[in-house]
Amino acid sequence: MSQEWVQSHGFRPAQAMMLWKRLYGNNLWVQYYDELEGLNKDFKRMLSEHADFKTFHLKDMLTAADGTKKILFTLEDGLVIETVVIPCLRGRNTVCVSSQVGCSMNCQFCYTGRQMGLKRNLSAAEIVEQAVFARRMLSQEVGTITNVVFMGMGEPLQNIENVMKAADILVDVQGLQFSPRKVTISTSGLVPQIRRVLKESNCALAVSLNATTDEILTQVRNWVMPINRKYNLSLLLGTLREELRFKHKYKVLFEYVMLSGVNDSIDDAKRLIQLVQGIPCKINLLSFNPHCGSQFKPTKEEKMIEFRNVLAEAGCVVFLRTSRGDDRMAACGQLGMPSEIQAPL
Ligand code: SF4
Repeated sequence: MSQEWVQSHGFRPAQAMMLWKRLYGNNLWVQYYDELEGLNKDFKRMLSEHADFKTFHLKDMLTAADGTKKILFTLEDGLVIETVVIPCLRGRNTVCVSSQVGCSMNCQFCYTGRQMGLKRNLSAAEIVEQAVFARRMLSQEVGTITNVVFMGMGEPLQNIENVMKAADILVDVQGLQFSPRKVTISTSGLVPQIRRVLKESNCALAVSLNATTDEILTQVRNWVMPINRKYNLSLLLGTLREELRFKHKYKVLFEYVMLSGVNDSIDDAKRLIQLVQGIPCKINLLSFNPHCGSQFKPTKEEKMIEFRNVLAEAGCVVFLRTSRGDDRMAACGQLGMPSEIQAPL
């Protein structure tokens, strides 16, 4: 509901701002017309006739042993999306939002990509509503939601218009007021869209790397992440190197899911150091979360530590991230998978 939309229905632009504040600001987050206090009657009547506040319905909410919550929503067209709330990680409560129903990127370590296919893009309203729901329903239980990551179902940059619009709403100072540094847009590596995000947004950017070779003989990234056949490592990293020259004090986050025997050798660690040279960055090493039908096994913890140490000794800013919510299929790469199905160990 934009100012133009409000004007086109015969009302003043200022009334759009009053409505905006009731939808997103001051911790109000109304859901129904009769909760819209302080708006004039004619405006409320017009809204009840022409606008719909709720974009989906709660289907189910599952809590994992570590407190991570997987929330399933049914959309107006009957499709189901998943949102994950990860409580209190070093003082942060994070909501992980979906940007598409399913995904077409076919990353081999991800159930969503391998099994679901892409059903459709989410609208900006459907994306924002996931964060609003998390704040409205869970703030008291887990504490204030401080961070948003676009790492649920879907490739956010394949739905870039709606994702950028949603990010703008999330960081609006009259609205939800998330800090842009605490809103992270992730991508498997869509190069033209990465350029646009870095030029037009101040939100954080995370890039899934997950391999260090794409040469003809080894081509691990071509296999693990098929997007690499279109935008290979050298193009991807060259673009980041070039674009980040213009972003003051900005660091890209590289995500690296560790797959036993595939991308976790010391040679991989050494290649990774070379690849990210000259790019202001942090590196997250993630343990692989198994799911039905997956061909990979997680790297053992000692090996992850050894890998981390090689990077750290070379001066990289690197973190080991443990799995959250994997017993409820709420962890990275497990969305879309029924929680009653046990993942292989
Ligand atoms: Fe899609 Fe992300 Fe899964 Fe890749 S990791 S298939 S981009 S949801």
